[in-house]
Amino acid sequence: MLYDNITVKDGKLFFAGMDTTLLAKKHGTPLYLMDEDRIRGNCRAYRDALKGCACPDSEAVYASKACSFAGIYKMIAEEGLCADVVSPGEIYTAKKAGFPMERAYFQGNNKTDEDIAFAIDCGVGYFVCDNFEELDVLDRIAGEKGVRQKILLRVTPGIDPHTYAEVSTGKVDSKFGVAIETGQAAEAVQKALSKKNLIFEGIHCHVGSMVFDSDVFLRASAVMLGFAAEIKKNLGAEIKILDLGGGYGVKYYPGQGEIDIPQNIKAVAKRVAELSEEYGLKTPSLRLEPGRSIVADAGITLYTVGSVKKITGYKNYVSVDGGMTDNPRYALYESKYTVLTANKADSPCDMTADLVGRCCESGDIIQPGVSFPSSIERGDAVAVLTTGAYNYSMASNYNRVPRPPIVLLRGGSDRVAVRRESLDDLLSNDIV
Ligand SMILES: *Cc1c(COP(=O)(O)O)cnc(C)c1O
Repeated sequence: MLYDNITVKDGKLFFAGMDTTLLAKKHGTPLYLMDEDRIRGNCRAYRDALKGCACPDSEAVYASKACSFAGIYKMIAEEGLCADVVSPGEIYTAKKAGFPMERAYFQGNNKTDEDIAFAIDCGVGYFVCDNFEELDVLDRIAGEKGVRQKILLRVTPGIDPHTYAEVSTGKVDSKFGVAIETGQAAEAVQKALSKKNLIFEGIHCHVGSMVFDSDVFLRASAVMLGFAAEIKKNLGAEIKILDLGGGYGVKYYPGQGEIDIPQNIKAVAKRVAELSEEYGLKTPSLRLEPGRSIVADAGITLYTVGSVKKITGYKNYVSVDGGMTDNPRYALYESKYTVLTANKADSPCDMTADLVGRCCESGDIIQPGVSFPSSIERGDAVAVLTTGAYNYSMASNYNRVPRPPIVLLRGGSDRVAVRRESLDDLLSNDIV
């Protein structure tokens, strides 16, 4: 199987040791299941790799946009990770869940005045500043509130990770950050240093997502250290923190690339320490911001089949009770997934069909060209694997479809962490 938390017993698909067909009956479908031990294990792998690495006081920061709900901030806090937040909504959720906000990093390329004031009031530890305007406004608002705000500056190192254009963010012409190559990043550091209400702590980059090439982070760290050396030489400032963002890839289908994350972290930290020495810099503390690789393999989605349509001489469709509303990733990026029939998990797959959702949209495809057992019929349960990242957090109410619940599995028991949206929830903001 794709991951060791997925097994088959008596023809039934088990996830995190539990029978998914029983969970589908108990909680209804569509249903997001999350393996809590896997989330925690993924957190620990990062924490342990960073603890023993060559850069002192290094930490992992969970990029919570990958999957954001109150319970996950609590888990992340318990596992000793920091959190990336990108909106007042994420900040508010984290704070309500009791997350230590001094360990939160506020990301984003357009923070409004209201966002900035709200984040300061919530005690967000770090702003990852994206642009010149933000430095001016943050300095002003921090001053009004009598706060000196710690910041990192987001820069673009000019590295193309060669993954997917939609998730590639480290190139010079990206909408995120300021470019090192054009000299604008150095200008931004100078500006930050001149602001009396800002404390310049270091530099940040995020080159992209779904990275399997271990060389990408080594190249990024070399460019970033070169920039740190330039800052020291020209502006007399040293960075304390080097934040290399997120982006480690995960496996969605058999045979896809793999990367040994702990080993890569050690190698990157070693390179950073060596280059620091070479440039006469104090070795900075590292930050890495994994999102996908913390939650993706901890999630699967269950659906119930409604119809099997065989268009003779053309193609077949298996329609289920969810779709682009709970998983828009195929529609957005043509993302690949592994699909299993949860109650016929050891039946031979002898029929090809597109797995489609219930929305009024031809593009409502969860996955094309899936192999199913030809006995698949209405009432069967279908599982889409590796849906823990960017599924719930990207879900919508298109066609007024309520969002599915998240059920956490741990030690053989199941617990609802986010309840299913009700029809009344859909109306809760409507004024008649
Ligand atoms: C999206 C994002 C991440 C997380 O990326 P993953 O590919 O999910 O690990 C980290 N940092 C920033 C700034 C991001 O925008």
